[in-house]
Amino acid sequence: MSSDRGIAPTYACITHCVPASRNDVRTSFGNGGGAPVQRYLWQQADGRRHAYDTDTGRPAVGQPLTALCGVTVTPRTQDMTPGTWFDQTCWRCDREWRVRAGFPPEEIPALAAETEGAQ
Ligand SMILES: [Zn+2]
Repeated sequence: MSSDRGIAPTYACITHCVPASRNDVRTSFGNGGGAPVQRYLWQQADGRRHAYDTDTGRPAVGQPLTALCGVTVTPRTQDMTPGTWFDQTCWRCDREWRVRAGFPPEEIPALAAETEGAQ
């Protein structure tokens, strides 16, 4: 019997997958060697599922966190539990993630009407 270790926890992928399939463009991140580090991660806060840059932010309860879309959010205790992230994805973050990660243009969606003018 082969031990199948392909059963990864996918709790962070509820409504859509983190665009991590192309994280190979980011393997130079970190101190070199070892497993590639996912630079951008999702964090639910303030009613949205935002993404943040692990270089500049680390989510903590009650601590302001700057999301990729530019807004500052503050995760609460219930936001720190993956699996209970039922809030809407912030598509500005999703887009910014793809832009920063060097996705090809056809994989960078235009900001449609789903993003209201949250200034
Ligand atoms: Zn956002």
